[in-house]
Amino acid sequence: MSGSCSIKIKNVWIADGSGAPLRKGEVLVGDGRILALEPGASGGAAAERILEFRGAVLAPGFIDAHGHSDLSLPAAPEAFSKVSQGVTCEIAGNCGLSAFPLTSRNREHLEELYANYSFPLTWDTLAGYRARVAECAPAMDMELLAGHNTLRAAAAGYEKETLSPGELREMLRLADETLEQGALGFSFGLLYVPGKFAPESEVTALMRVAAKRDKICTVHLRSEGDRLLESLEEMILCAREAGLKKLHVSHFKTAGAANFSKLDRAIEMIREARERGIRVTCDRYPYTRSMTQLSVILPGKWADLDDSAIGKRLQAPEARLRLAEEIRNGRSAGYWDTVTLVSTAAPAYQSQQGLPLSSCGPDPALAVTELLAADAAGTTAAFSGMSKENLKRILALPFTVAGSDGNALPADERFGRAHPRAFGTLPRFLKQLLESGVSPEEAVRRATGLTAEIFGLKERGLVRTGAMADLVIFDPDELEAPEDFRSPATPASGSLCTLKAGRTVFSR
Ligand SMILES: [Zn+2]
Repeated sequence: MSGSCSIKIKNVWIADGSGAPLRKGEVLVGDGRILALEPGASGGAAAERILEFRGAVLAPGFIDAHGHSDLSLPAAPEAFSKVSQGVTCEIAGNCGLSAFPLTSRNREHLEELYANYSFPLTWDTLAGYRARVAECAPAMDMELLAGHNTLRAAAAGYEKETLSPGELREMLRLADETLEQGALGFSFGLLYVPGKFAPESEVTALMRVAAKRDKICTVHLRSEGDRLLESLEEMILCAREAGLKKLHVSHFKTAGAANFSKLDRAIEMIREARERGIRVTCDRYPYTRSMTQLSVILPGKWADLDDSAIGKRLQAPEARLRLAEEIRNGRSAGYWDTVTLVSTAAPAYQSQQGLPLSSCGPDPALAVTELLAADAAGTTAAFSGMSKENLKRILALPFTVAGSDGNALPADERFGRAHPRAFGTLPRFLKQLLESGVSPEEAVRRATGLTAEIFGLKERGLVRTGAMADLVIFDPDELEAPEDFRSPATPASGSLCTLKAGRTVFSR
């Protein structure tokens, strides 16, 4: 068994994930666990393998606080994009979207959304899903949030704007059942259908279910730009009303130049909430372009349709022309330079992947309608409009942890193209923290121990005798990750070796 092979890792600086100062040492690993830590502590114990590094840093396997590998991990369990960065665990089920629970009301929609992975959705519950993932023996672990959008749709489908009292009760019952089965808490995605229909009372009701068991709620805010402050305030008020003690803001940002100045107030609101007993935390990827489904740019009534309905309606050429007109009227010509087509299955647009929409023919608005007609669920785009300065300030906050917002992906592009963050977030996050003067031990803590603490992961995030041997060894001077949308599947530099339960899942 590969897990039982004993390994001695020599000549490393240990950053144990707690923030304690780096110390020189060696680590003995066996039976998937850390057997001994200090120099000499392993005594004469003979190891079957010796790994020797010239002063590289050994840390707990990184925990990606924000991922969407719910289906990509079982479909490609080697998880190359993650383990090549040193990630051994991801928090999945984010932005309101989890792969469970499934009922007759949401199954078909999610099958369509995940069709790209050709992985049948054979489960109903979190427990069933987790067992199915485990059968695939993935190279990385996932810890799971239950998504509000999935829960809501499991109770009432995707079209219902207002839940009946019975549907709300059913949603809350399903939600509590996921906690019973080990969900870390709930994620909200209030920008997306059908979560966007939820009034504050519904948000509060779900938070109350989490609060009763002292679990966390994470949120993709209703607005990250023009109504950022109102959206943040909404969540803090709901949390207070619900008695929720742990609120986590996903991919914290100020979107759009007009909103850059709102960061001061947003940070102040978070600090005030923390002083009043709600532990607000956040995650962030170290890039200034976001990525989501292209369909989020649709105006008016179109914005309330789910992707499957959008695709169906756009089969008619007249519908595409009408929508193109509507989109064109709402956008300046320069706008199309700021949106990059990341990935699509639309055959006519394969060579435009990684390029701005302005290069998708003479009429980008019409191109949008054609892309969505061909692949509404799978067409993704990256949006410029974040501030570099604010990114630095957000990363500098002591309660910000690393979160890629990316998927575990194979080295090839068989599931389509990605935002480069899927391959580079962790090395880039550490590099930016180190460059801004944060100590290596603290930078590591913000990708390991602190993340584990925020999400209540008791067995993770620390290098300790007896702990699971999930470890990464990296060279802090070599951390580098390009931001190249034309060839996003480029592994980052810096990680030298990743061990999952004592087994090498990546090495350079
Ligand atoms: Zn999100």
